Parts: sequence; C-alpha cells; structure tokens
Amino acid sequence: MKIAIMGAMPEEIAPILEKIGEYTTTKYAHNTYYEGKYAGHDLVIAYSKIGKVFSTLTAASLIEKFGAQMLLFSGVAGGINPELRIGDLIVATALCQHDLDITAFGHPHGYVPEGSQFIQAEEKLIAVANRVAKEMDITLKEGIIATGDQFVHSQDRKNWIETTFKADALEMEGTSVAVVCEALEVPFLILRAISDVADMDASFNFDEFLESSAQESAVFILKILEKI
Ligand code: SAH
Repeated sequence: MKIAIMGAMPEEIAPILEKIGEYTTTKYAHNTYYEGKYAGHDLVIAYSKIGKVFSTLTAASLIEKFGAQMLLFSGVAGGINPELRIGDLIVATALCQHDLDITAFGHPHGYVPEGSQFIQAEEKLIAVANRVAKEMDITLKEGIIATGDQFVHSQDRKNWIETTFKADALEMEGTSVAVVCEALEVPFLILRAISDVADMDASFNFDEFLESSAQESAVFILKILEKI
C-alpha cells in the first residue's frame, strides 16, 4: 500500500526523511514530494506549508497525483486541554474549522451547507495508534482538534475555541487534510505533539519546542508504519 506522510513545515517531515534515508524527489505545484520505502510500505512524503489552503493542495496532490491510499499527518499543535503538556501526543477523533463563520445565517460555527461541523476520524487507525502507544509505554490523548488560519496565542481565543467546539488542541492544517481524505475516501490519521499551549507565551514556546515535539510525533508515526 502507498502511504502518504504529511507535515506542514520542513521540521515535521525531516525526521522521517532522515530515517528512511533513500528517496527520490519530484517537484509539483510549488512543493517537493519525496518517495521512498519504510517497513515494507511505499511512502510519499511532503510538507505543505502552513495553513488550510496549502495543506488542502498538498493532501489532494498526495492522493490524486501520487496515488496515496492512506494519509498520516505528523506535526505540532497548541494544547487546549490542561492535561496536554508540551511534548505530549494527541490523535484527532474529530476535527473542525474554528475560523469558518457564516453564523450570520443561523449556522453553527465551523459549518457550511453541504459540509459538516465536525469530520470524524478513522477509528481503525486510532486503534493502531493506541496499540503503538501502549507498546511504547507513552500516553496518547484522543480528542477534538480545531483548525484555523491563525496562530493562536491568546487565552481568550483559546477559551472561545474550547467552549465552542470542546476542542482539546488547535493547529492550522488538520481539518483541511481531513476534509480532503474523507471526500476522496482515503483513511487518515492526524497526530500532533504539543509545542505550546496557545497562550501569551505560545510563540516563544513554539520556537523552543518545535523541533523536539515534531520529532516526538515523527517517531510515533514511524512506529505506526511498522504496525500497519
Ligand atoms: N514559526 C513559523 C510559524 C508557525 S505557525 C514561522 O515563523 O514561519 C504554527 C504551526 O504549528 C502551524 O503549522 C500549526 O499547525 C502549528 N501550531 C502549533 N501551535 C499552534 C498554535 N498555538 N496556534 C495555531 N497553530 C499552531
């Protein structure tokens, strides 16, 4: 099976590329796509650049152009749930867009007609992730991830996202990737390691912990590949 591994930033896919060692590169639509092998799987790997638009383009390209039959996202996120500390892992059970707003027409936040407020994640892959966490003896949180085209660094915005969507973590790509995968019927997993807690200090924490948290997430994704 051909599996896509996707991140938003170079730091998020670097540990995966390092681990697989040998790969070919293809330039397509202003991105680089890396193809190699790991644990008996053909892989196509890319980082999209930050945000919902770029991640939509990359997820669709990974599937439609490079033939990925499954997509695993590895990256970092801001924590909302106080149980999540920097470096902890969360896998999305459902995802939503916190900045999608046509509430003026009476719709709930995150909803547009013919869409849905939440995208449900793939239970089978979450079960695999839980098995991996058990084997590695680490805590993996399951929860709702909220996505938006904003780096959240305010307690007020964070509280609003928590109250509105019951979200446990937030980031800038997960839901757009999930929308693409669900529409194209490709199983997906969105995994994130916490880099900051989306408060006043978020940008400083992010800069300090991006690399180590991206590494945590990537190591976990590699273990998942060994189990699929
Ligand atoms: N340091 C970058 C900007 C990072 S934007 C630069 O200067 O170019 C934050 C990235 O990490 C996004 O890809 C997003 O998915 C994730 N992320 C981590 N913490 C976040 C937060 N508090 N709010 C939104 N996204 C966050």
